[in-house]
Amino acid sequence: MRKINTVTGTCTPQELGTTLVHEHLLIAWAGWEADSVVIKGFKRDEALRVCVDRMQELKSLGVDTFMDPCPSDLGRDVEFMAEASSKSGLRVICATGLYKEDLGGTYFKFYHEIGAANVSEIADLYAQELTDGVGDTGIKPAFIKCATGVLKNQAGRPHITPYEEMCLRAAARASKATGAPITTHTDEAMLGLEQLAIFAEEGVNPKDVIVGHTGDTSNLAYHASIMDKGAYVGCDRFGLEMILSDRLRLATVIGLCGVGYEKQIVLSHDSVGCFKGRAMVMQGAAQLLTANWHPTHLFKNLIPKMKEAGLSDAKIRTMLVDNPRRWFAGE
Ligand SMILES: [Zn+2]
Repeated sequence: MRKINTVTGTCTPQELGTTLVHEHLLIAWAGWEADSVVIKGFKRDEALRVCVDRMQELKSLGVDTFMDPCPSDLGRDVEFMAEASSKSGLRVICATGLYKEDLGGTYFKFYHEIGAANVSEIADLYAQELTDGVGDTGIKPAFIKCATGVLKNQAGRPHITPYEEMCLRAAARASKATGAPITTHTDEAMLGLEQLAIFAEEGVNPKDVIVGHTGDTSNLAYHASIMDKGAYVGCDRFGLEMILSDRLRLATVIGLCGVGYEKQIVLSHDSVGCFKGRAMVMQGAAQLLTANWHPTHLFKNLIPKMKEAGLSDAKIRTMLVDNPRRWFAGE
């Protein structure tokens, strides 16, 4: 039986239980170290308290496991995760990987551009973190994160940049070497198929991949095209109504489950417990449109609506329990 690394030890796929596949505890946008005046005021204990409160509430709602896909260049703090997990009793699983070009760290991008970082070096870095832990913390990630944005190519079309492609190929090779599955970030529900094409070239089975943020569109054909290749779609931004309304997010999930796609859908919110550095203060209309952007939203507000629309308990369980388990177990 495959053991899954958590930030506080290991668990079996069976033990995962109800799993939110994409939530964040602490995020620091790349370059946060430069904001020294604000960073000086960062209160780690306070941030921890906010996260632990949320996690305890999630536990009381029946959530067992929380996957935090923070890439290593967005202030990933695995010791913070471990502390939050121990204090709250909620299982946390962390990731290795790098973010998209426009908002990720510039370190590897720079070295990639001058020819001093390549796919196999990045793959080795990921594999080492998965096998030996992050730095000297001994805390091991259990999955790989990669990301694409919508930066345009010379023809003016959103594309996967050479740097992002290096990170995707590295993720694929580290996945093949270690058995760790892959979760991705996409922007504007685009380039999911292009991500899968790169993984396929590297020999990754699509069943090991969650194409994240696919739920940012209600275009059913796009969802189906990804699932028909064998991958999972992340309907993982419930509550982020400034991107797509919850009504359309729900309609998408309910519709796809209605025709039998529930075995390839995972659910989450992409919520953020705390920001290190300056907070992202939503103003005006945006504030209204993120009022429900909280990791309890599915359990408090949306699952009842799914049931009202006729979605069975079994299908909801498939998305929240069985799919994360099968994805981790490589079934
Ligand atoms: Zn995220």
